[in-house]
Amino acid sequence: MKQTRLKKQSEQSSQKTQICKVCFKTIENEATFHNLLSINISICHDCLLELKPAFNEFKFEGIQCLNIFYYNQKVQEMLYQFKGCKDYELRTIFLEYYKNYLNIMFNGYIMVPAPSFEEADEERGFNHVEEMFSVLNLKMEKCIHKTKKVKQADLTSEERKNIKDVLVIDDIDFSNKKVLIIDDVFTTGSTVKTMINLVGQKHPKKIKVLLMSKTIDLDRR
Ligand SMILES: [Zn+2]
Repeated sequence: MKQTRLKKQSEQSSQKTQICKVCFKTIENEATFHNLLSINISICHDCLLELKPAFNEFKFEGIQCLNIFYYNQKVQEMLYQFKGCKDYELRTIFLEYYKNYLNIMFNGYIMVPAPSFEEADEERGFNHVEEMFSVLNLKMEKCIHKTKKVKQADLTSEERKNIKDVLVIDDIDFSNKKVLIIDDVFTTGSTVKTMINLVGQKHPKKIKVLLMSKTIDLDRR
C-alpha cells in the first residue's frame, strides 16, 4: 500500500519536472502541439531536433515502408548508448514523441520485430528493437527468430544476403491480419526482405514496414 502511494507520488512529481534523458536539461512545459498530445515526454525538443526526424516513406519489395529518422551521427550515438552501453533508460527517446501519431497510423497492425540472436539479448538484458517499439500501443508478435549469431556490420554484402538462412518463423497464422515489420536500422534491407518473405508465407492481409532509422542513401549525401 505504502509502496503504491510512493510510486504514485514519484509519478506525479516526474510529471511536474521532466528531465531530458539525453541532455539532462529540464523539459520546458511549453504548450506545443506535441506536448499537448503526449504528457510524458523523455526527450527535449532540442535533442529531438538533433535526431532530425525525417518521416521518409519508400517502397521496398513492393511493400510500403516508413523510416522515422535517418541513421545520422546523433541517431548512431544514441543507439550505441542504448544498445551497446545497455542504457535501458533511452528506450523511449526514439519513438515516444510520435507514439500517438504512429498508433493511429498503424491501428490494427501486429508488430513483428526483427530478432537478435537470443543469447545476445540475454547478455544485454533486453531486446533493443522490442523495447524501442513497445512505447506504441500495438500488439507485438515475436514470431521470427535468429538461429545463429551474425553481426550485420561485420558482414560483406555477399554474406548479408545469406541472412535468409538464419531467420526462421514460428508456426503462426496471419490470415486476415495486418502485419507491421519493425526494425531499428535499415541498411541493405536484407533482414527486412527476409522478414517480408517469411511473414508473407503466413497469408497476412497486409504487410507494412516501420523503421526507427535508415542509412542515408548515396544520393542524399
Ligand atoms: Zn535534451
